[in-house]
Amino acid sequence: MSRRILIAGNWKMHLSPDDGAAVVSQLASTVGPASDVEVLVCPTFVGISSALQAAKGSAVQVGAQNCHWEPKGAFTGELSAELLQAAGCSHVILGHSERRQYFGETEETVCLRLQAVLRTGLVPVLCIGETLEERESGQLETVLRRQVTGALAGIAPDQLSSLVVAYEPVWAIGTGVVASTEQAQEAHAFVRSVLREILGSAADAVRILYGGSVKPNNAQELMSQADIDGALVGGASLKAEDFLAIISASKQG
Ligand code: PEP
Repeated sequence: MSRRILIAGNWKMHLSPDDGAAVVSQLASTVGPASDVEVLVCPTFVGISSALQAAKGSAVQVGAQNCHWEPKGAFTGELSAELLQAAGCSHVILGHSERRQYFGETEETVCLRLQAVLRTGLVPVLCIGETLEERESGQLETVLRRQVTGALAGIAPDQLSSLVVAYEPVWAIGTGVVASTEQAQEAHAFVRSVLREILGSAADAVRILYGGSVKPNNAQELMSQADIDGALVGGASLKAEDFLAIISASKQG
């Protein structure tokens, strides 16, 4: 089954609204109004509006890096999926390993956030991935299965048609150490097999992105793998030239 490649940038807590808009302007002028590869940037919350402004008229989409599960209420410092939708976001990253590691994100809260994103019709980008210790102690499949089934628990399969999963081995995020294409493909194929148990043949339409030190020089080989349908890019999405080179390489993959 052919799945449209998605190249997504996670800017984390980087780039001011003006600097982000400058990056998006460069992306927008190269990507243009239509693109066979889907392009997404996820700025900080305060950078969303200027990124959207800069993306106007182009196929570059703008998403968020997290959301709360309630639609509104007394949750100081939080933003709901509804607010992100009203701000113009198209996607929301969920369960990034940094959120799991530093902000107490659990399988249960990722599941709640996923339900909130689906409720609005925004596209969820669900991050999963093992630590080095988990991989080296033979727990790779156990961890990935737990993260996927935990996030999707209780959600009707017909609600999950927009789901995007990002496999991001924690040991490859921001380290410059990229998983080998074999390691990545193997993990992606396993994740798809778990999705198949839950979604049946609809799992074949779910895009599974690879994340972890994706750079212009390794993107093409990664994208050439059967179950790798795009990339979630941190560091290399902060510079338009690098991000554009990854987009371009993914077309050849
Ligand atoms: C990420 O933040 O999701 C990520 C993959 O970062 P990097 O590309 O910098 O490893």
